[in-house]
Amino acid sequence: MPEQTEESAPQRPVVDRKARFKVPASRPSKQPPAERIGNWDEVYHLFDAETAKMEALRCIQCPTAPCQKACPVHNDIPGALWLLEQGDFDGGANVFRQTSELPEMCGRLCPQERLCEGHCVVGKNALPVAIGKLETFVTEWQRANGGGPNTTAAPSTGRSVAVVGSGPAGIAVAERLARQGHAVTIFEAWPTLGGVLRYGIPTFKQNKPAVDRKFGDLAKLGVQFKTNVRVGQDIDWATLRHDYDAVFLGVGASVGTRLGIPGEDAEGVLVATDFLVRSNLPADALPDAMHTPLGHPQRVVVVGGGDTSMDCVRSARRLGAQDVTLIYRRTDAEMQGRIEERTHATEEGVHFEFLAAPVEILVAENGHARGIRCIRMELGPADDTGRRRPEPVPGSEFDIEGDLVIVAIGYGVDAEWGDIDPSLSRDRWDRIVADPETMATNLPGVFAGGDDVNGADLVVTALAGAHTAAAAIDAYLTSLGAK
Ligand code: SF4
Repeated sequence: MPEQTEESAPQRPVVDRKARFKVPASRPSKQPPAERIGNWDEVYHLFDAETAKMEALRCIQCPTAPCQKACPVHNDIPGALWLLEQGDFDGGANVFRQTSELPEMCGRLCPQERLCEGHCVVGKNALPVAIGKLETFVTEWQRANGGGPNTTAAPSTGRSVAVVGSGPAGIAVAERLARQGHAVTIFEAWPTLGGVLRYGIPTFKQNKPAVDRKFGDLAKLGVQFKTNVRVGQDIDWATLRHDYDAVFLGVGASVGTRLGIPGEDAEGVLVATDFLVRSNLPADALPDAMHTPLGHPQRVVVVGGGDTSMDCVRSARRLGAQDVTLIYRRTDAEMQGRIEERTHATEEGVHFEFLAAPVEILVAENGHARGIRCIRMELGPADDTGRRRPEPVPGSEFDIEGDLVIVAIGYGVDAEWGDIDPSLSRDRWDRIVADPETMATNLPGVFAGGDDVNGADLVVTALAGAHTAAAAIDAYLTSLGAK
């Protein structure tokens, strides 16, 4: 987004800021904790229309819109909220849809406290404007009233694009290119479409019908889908490149990092993805290897400190586990996930064991995990990230009993691309190397974006990379000439 000055900024309506500062903040209601751990429904209810209008009225229409700058896709937040406060919900939704293919999801999933809402001027002296919840409200209102994104495609260009991966980056690239008249086919290795939106994010944060609805939009634009097709196994990479004029790789970062401690291969130890997909989805939506049921674990230990670890502890409570403990080697002040997620987990009865690191999985005689041995940590000097480095306290080991141990310490990109095409440039973490200006890889006609380039990150950052890629792919296809 180009730097805005007062002169270059879009004209904003002149509003009575003092009066707006007096409007009390509103937030949508939530399911009470005791009720919500008994179901998988979303925690938050949507705003009602009148409350949403009142909350939008708190926006003071800053000319330089710091919230918009902080949004990775630069949604015109003041513009959308201006329409919303006047009751033009359709118009407000359309403003969000100009810059985002997934506004319903981003409103639910973005860490707004460090993005748009973290830069809200109103938030300096009060609660910030509830931008995310308003974005979700207005775009869901539009859907419920028969609207949605523009699904009219331009006349066919005769050019074709293979999109590998159906997560946020693949969705955004497919939607933009299909609308420009290119023939888009999405290849998905899993049985159903959606990537992290379906397989990684629990339904109590993002309902699945909204994910299905998105693929309905793409189908209307003429996008074709091929599920259960893994590139390199079910379709040859060279064939794919030959059959399509361009390829976009949006395969995400879904390989769980391991702890590297004794006992980790025992029964009853799962990486986060394996646990989340089995707890959140029916077996027929999963690959065959994941059909084994989880059973009914009563004591669950989760290792990690980010949002995925919160998804795990909260899913465990909904599965009926009575005793759920999260182990984190620093303190809550250093945790990187959303504060809201930690608040929800605490409300739902999760126990936090801070300044503790796992050293061994305890294994019963039958080969099944029976718990985890940890060591106490203390914080030393700051490391390269600026956070204080945790250091073990000698002789402080202690055990936590558990019949299921879940490892949620991060995700990486699948190293299989080194075998599929060794000439594709990757870095030492197996991330695909792409030009940040175009998201072009070193292979002609092959582009990449999202978590497979950035490493595991946000839905909205995947969209931002996908927007760059879609523009560059369109330019590349145009440069090939008419077919
Ligand atoms: Fe805020 Fe995310 Fe929406 Fe941008 S996409 S306005 S950062 S909630």
